[in-house]
Amino acid sequence: MIGVAVLGSTGSIGESTLDVLRQHPDRFRAVALTAHRNAERLFAQCVEFRPEVALIADASLHAALAARLRAAGLPTKLLAGGDELPAIAALPSADYVMAAIVGAAGLNSTLAAAGAGKRLLIANKEALVMAGRQVLAAARQSGATIIPIDSEHNAVFQCLPSATVLGAEPPGVRRVMLTASGGPFRSWSASALQNATPEQACAHPTWNMGRKISVDSATLMNKGLELIEAQLLFGLPVERIEVVIHPQSVVHSLVEYIDGSVLAQLGSPDMRTPIAQALAWPQRLASGVQFLDLLQVARLDFEPPDLGRFPCLGLAIAAARAGAEMPAVLSAANEVAVEAFLEGRLNFAGIEQVIGDVMNGWLSTGGTPGLEAVLAADARARALAAERIAPANSPRSIRA
Ligand code: NDP
Ligand code: MG
Repeated sequence: MIGVAVLGSTGSIGESTLDVLRQHPDRFRAVALTAHRNAERLFAQCVEFRPEVALIADASLHAALAARLRAAGLPTKLLAGGDELPAIAALPSADYVMAAIVGAAGLNSTLAAAGAGKRLLIANKEALVMAGRQVLAAARQSGATIIPIDSEHNAVFQCLPSATVLGAEPPGVRRVMLTASGGPFRSWSASALQNATPEQACAHPTWNMGRKISVDSATLMNKGLELIEAQLLFGLPVERIEVVIHPQSVVHSLVEYIDGSVLAQLGSPDMRTPIAQALAWPQRLASGVQFLDLLQVARLDFEPPDLGRFPCLGLAIAAARAGAEMPAVLSAANEVAVEAFLEGRLNFAGIEQVIGDVMNGWLSTGGTPGLEAVLAADARARALAAERIAPANSPRSIRA
């Protein structure tokens, strides 16, 4: 029986993970579950999966939830606060850790799982963008196995030779091609994009995801973060990673080899496929995903991304090229801007302006930053981004 800790179990990836575990009770046991504020969902998950430990990051909700768990006669020990997440990630009974917390809040637990020698199923792309080097180094030292969950990186992982070492350039690879659906605004004009609403941004045409990544998909920042993620995981320079818009979301990414072969991974757009792949690797596991009907898909389209209408992708390419702490700066400013957009304090076009301003004014120290320097850059970029966003009483604008 394999013990699985699901960090961010109440989110979109977390629930998809629990759905795969639910289908294989003879092989997997959810030993730990965590949420930020969704105590209701976490309670229901504890009733179903009876984990050894659960954690609610918002400590103010701990007492009431702990009382409910006790009253229901559950064996689950409830922890509180984000500082306890690393302890959950290093839990002895957790053989595998699903890192599915959104944003930089997932970094401490992702690092802890990598350091504790777990099989680390990593969806939390922001942790890799911020401190990927540290995550890979911790895994190398402890012997942890990392398997990417992000559908593109999982697709690339599946198309690479089985002996591939993450972080090192795979032999014989010419290029990696990351596909992008193009998001809900793929065919919108630049002027219509200016004032797109959060509801429109979160109505993704092919994937059903959490709100932050939905907005990132609408700005194409998601593909930018993924480019940095790919640069790190597959040890390739930005020039050898291409982004291709593919509206059907059927081809999840491709690897081109020096002999002209191109290998791709295809499937229905459902995250349970990469999750099952990572849980079972190197074997295979049924996931409950609808099988692909190529005749129904009928056609596969590919087009280049439009950096004019989607400047966030250009900012991410610039951050990938700059290296050092710039990817962390980009990701932190993006988190602050997206939150402001979702709360109606910033318009859609303002997201890119805030991130661009923070990056343009940034004086890089150069070199490869250690963890302390990354965390300091994250904090400073957040403060600078917040300064750029107008107060709540002047909605949908940024300060001149
Ligand atoms: P969701 O917003 O749906 O879920 C996020 C999870 O993290 C929830 O369990 C949430 O708890 C928890 N959480 C949020 N903030 C904190 C915090 N400060 N401290 C502790 N826990 C927190 O996100 P997704 O599942 O969509 O995405 C998760 C990660 O996976 C992201 O990094 C995303 O980029 C990546 N990813 C997602 C894909 C998808 O299809 N959804 C595809 C590829 C990658 P609560 O519910 O209580 O708020
Ligand atoms: Mg993806």
